[in-house]
Amino acid sequence: MNIHEYQAKELLKQYGAPVLGGGIAYTAKEAEQVAKDLGGPVWVVKAQIHAGGRGKGGGVKVVKSVEEVKKIAAEMIGMTLVTHQTGPAGKVVNQVYIEDGCAIANELYVSLLVDRETSRIAIIASSEGGMDIEKVAADTPEKIITVTIDPASGLSGFHCRKVAFAIGLTGKVAGAAAKVIASLYKAFVEKDAAMLEINPLVVTEDDQVVVLDAKMGFDGNSLFRHKDVVELRDPTEEDPMELEAAKHELSYIKLDGSIGCMVNGAGLAMATMDII
Ligand code: ADP
Ligand code: MG
Repeated sequence: MNIHEYQAKELLKQYGAPVLGGGIAYTAKEAEQVAKDLGGPVWVVKAQIHAGGRGKGGGVKVVKSVEEVKKIAAEMIGMTLVTHQTGPAGKVVNQVYIEDGCAIANELYVSLLVDRETSRIAIIASSEGGMDIEKVAADTPEKIITVTIDPASGLSGFHCRKVAFAIGLTGKVAGAAAKVIASLYKAFVEKDAAMLEINPLVVTEDDQVVVLDAKMGFDGNSLFRHKDVVELRDPTEEDPMELEAAKHELSYIKLDGSIGCMVNGAGLAMATMDII
């Protein structure tokens, strides 16, 4: 189960991760009020959909007046946003997040996931964060580093420092980034996340380390013990047929076109996928 950027930021904030001020809006009028409360002078209007690539698709706009926030919010709410992660049909934007703007000096990449090969949580990081991370992975994979954590001994300070130094940080900024990484790891473990991607993690012009984007997904099998996470579910982001199947405790995955996969065991699921 995935959640929105603004929800992930709220959750990470509880673990001490540094996020900017912001508020959610379902109408242009609400957006205007949030912008006034934040105070400016720069705001970023961000479409909230369960997909990345929003910046390139027109779903992230930097603005410099409350009127502009209102205007952009009015345009974004209700629009269908197409990004390289939504597929050609795109996704309807039902709400926008209005966030304080910041002056970015450096965009980094940090993500955590469960690495099935090593049966460990892996921290994946790069100095080349931002909107072209897929290109970095394809053209210069050596710029992406991976550190895995032994679950028996858990995360140590040296893991965090190793990641911070590997992505080119030094001094106080490296120390601040190491702290952020430790808070991300704690949130990941305690909430039974399946993946957490911060792209970008930024260093601002005044040397602050800030979580500027956040994508978070949870292990569906753990949701029974995370009522707070289940409350963050946005049914409009999920396939209606998968939702209906889940109500009846059926494992059903919608695939492209008119195909779906409904099976009752991992081996049969894999064999069925192979046949499809
Ligand atoms: P996506 O990954 O879906 O494109 P992001 O949240 O990563 O969306 O935003 C895209 C880009 O917009 C970021 O890489 C960053 O350069 C810029 N950006 C996002 N939020 C802010 C902000 N609060 N202040 C300044 N720039 C921002
Ligand atoms: Mg991003």
